[in-house]
Formats: sequence, structure tokens, C-alpha cells
Amino acid sequence: MVRWPMRIAIVSDVHSNLAGLRAVLRDAEANGAIDAVWCLGDIVGYAAEPSETIAELRARPLVSVAGNHDLAATGLMGVDEFNPVAAAAALWTAEQLSETERAFLADLPLTLVLGGPDVPTAADRPRGFTLVHGSLLEPVWEYLLDAEQAAAHFALQMTPYGLVGHSHLLFWVEERADGTPAFHRADDGTTIRLGDTRLIINPGSAGQPRDGDPRVSYVLYDEAAATMTWHRVAYDIAATQTGIRAAGLPPFLADRLATGR
Ligand code: ZN
Repeated sequence: MVRWPMRIAIVSDVHSNLAGLRAVLRDAEANGAIDAVWCLGDIVGYAAEPSETIAELRARPLVSVAGNHDLAATGLMGVDEFNPVAAAAALWTAEQLSETERAFLADLPLTLVLGGPDVPTAADRPRGFTLVHGSLLEPVWEYLLDAEQAAAHFALQMTPYGLVGHSHLLFWVEERADGTPAFHRADDGTTIRLGDTRLIINPGSAGQPRDGDPRVSYVLYDEAAATMTWHRVAYDIAATQTGIRAAGLPPFLADRLATGR
């Protein structure tokens, strides 16, 4: 079977921000159709368009893992661990979902392996990705942010490359030859080439940036070039803020989008 090299948009933490997601997908599709969207969880929670966001993602070939906000919105997870603002958003989101949407979120796996170490691959086209929202130690809860956590994650990562979200931060971690992890911040236009070095990659958030830059972000994986490129994208922040306020969600959730905090 002939398989064409793929262009894949990797998104995470969309959080019901339809305008943010649309801007990301428009940017990813500006140079031609994308073949798939890989989503690292937290599709819903915080903003006011959960149903529309799910539909926009499902209109494309989609693979996704579950985030803590997805599980809370289905009722599979309680909101005791959430701060009051996140809990309010989760309970509001749960009331908006149709039975079909709830089932879609409830069926999302916690981890997903695409390709794998036992899949024969051309040396010039490395494959094998593990998708998880937080980390392989704590799939929906751990914020993977330091070397100790990255080392524990690498120990459980059976593929060359791991894709994580949850922190809403743009970075990659390389596993150095001596086995220690090295963190690197990514920004708009940062490109890395996939090779022998094992990696953990975080695309940042397509719905609620937290690094002081209000633009949403994603990673474009170009399989033919074996590259990952981070992109920052401006979007209609006011549209998302209006929806949050009109829904009666905590106003802080609208305010924070303007500052990317
Ligand atoms: Zn999130």
C-alpha cells in the first residue's frame, strides 16, 4: 500500500475556544490540507463553545487523548481537585454536552501510541509517537515541567517521541546521550528535526495561552521533512470573551485571554 507523507496539526488544551481552534486550523491549512489532527486533551472546559469545538475537531481526521477537563465534563472525574473557577466551568460544560458529545469525550483514551518501536521504518523517516495529556506517570494530572519528571516520563516512553500538553507551555525536551533531559523553550517558527534523539514535545495551547503571549499555538508535523514547527497565531479574542461573559462563566476566564495568563 502506498502511503503519502503526512502533514499533521498537533494541538492541545483547546478548552472550548472555537475562535482559537479555527485560527490554528486555518493557519495549518494555509499551505494545503492537513491529513490529521492529533489532540493532546482538554478539548473542553473554560470557554463557552464546547459543542462547536468538538464538532470542528471531528470534522477532520482526528486522534485525541483525554485531558482532566474532558473527564470532568463527562462526570467520569469529580471536580474536587479543580480550583473554583475550573470547577464552575466544568459543571457548566457538563450541562451543555449532548449525549453523543459526552460519549465521545468519555471514550477518549488516556494514552495513545501511533506507530511504535516494532514498526519497521525507513531510517530517514523516524516514526513512533506516544500521546498523553500530562505525563506517562500521571496521564491527566502531572504538569511535566522539570528534569526529574521528564526522566520518569522517558523511562515509560516506549517510542522515540512523546507528545504532551496540560501546562499550556511551548517546549521540547531532548534526552541527552547520558540519559539526562534538557528542556528548550519554543516560540513562533521554532523548528526541530526528528532524529535519533528521544524527545518530548509540547505544542502549547490552542485555547488558553499562559506564557504572557495571547496568541494561541500549535505544532505542525511534516512527516516528509521529519520536522516539527511551532506556530503562534492571533485570533479573535473578543469573540471568545463575549461568549464566556454571555454564558455567565467566571469573568476571569475571559479577562485572562487578553494577557495570555
Ligand atoms: Zn488545559
